[in-house]
Amino acid sequence: MSELRELYQEMILDHNRNPRNFGELAGASRKADGYNPLCGDKVRVAVQVEKGVVKGIAFKGSGCAISTASASLMTESLKGKRVAEAKRLFATFHGMLTGKEADAGALGKLAVFAGVCEFPARVKCATLAWHTMKAALEGKQEQVTTE
Ligand code: ZN
Repeated sequence: MSELRELYQEMILDHNRNPRNFGELAGASRKADGYNPLCGDKVRVAVQVEKGVVKGIAFKGSGCAISTASASLMTESLKGKRVAEAKRLFATFHGMLTGKEADAGALGKLAVFAGVCEFPARVKCATLAWHTMKAALEGKQEQVTTE
């Protein structure tokens, strides 16, 4: 189990150092801003939705390793997914982080955050980008906050 944990930690550190889909998104149709005052994480998520499919997704911002890695892995996981699938994946991911039964198979790489459920304060870091993504998909204008 400790080897798995180290592997997970490596992946989180890697995505923090080299975040995927970081920066502007050409052709973005919707954007939302998120803020986690507890930790100071800030994120902006931009999405390009066509015919109910997430064609493109990118993020910007600054935050702790968990929030950055989570945003990075989220963009990788959601590209090409249907909007309904994206929301369902968030529900499964959130379930795992809050210690509920979660379908690990559906989560794929996102399972690297399983250990975060032991640190309730960090759950907000790991879900910030997801809450922000959901707001973007729903076309909400006001800033998303975890508080
Ligand atoms: Zn954080």
